[in-house]
Amino acid sequence: MATSRCPKCESGTFEATPLSVRGGNKPTAIQCANCGAIVGLLPDTGEVAKVIASSIQKTIADALKKTGK
Ligand SMILES: [Zn+2]
Repeated sequence: MATSRCPKCESGTFEATPLSVRGGNKPTAIQCANCGAIVGLLPDTGEVAKVIASSIQKTIADALKKTGK
């Protein structure tokens, strides 16, 4: 497997750091530990959990409708 490298300084060490974004989301940035260049983003885990929870609720509600309860 190829080694991940920073496109700016070619360092192979990265770190996850929380970002502060206007609007209230708190995504996590994957950035180069050497120069800080952002190479990836993870979504706000709180937001992801909310989306998953509402999706599960909808699935259960739909299943209950189908069984007529
Ligand atoms: Zn770098």
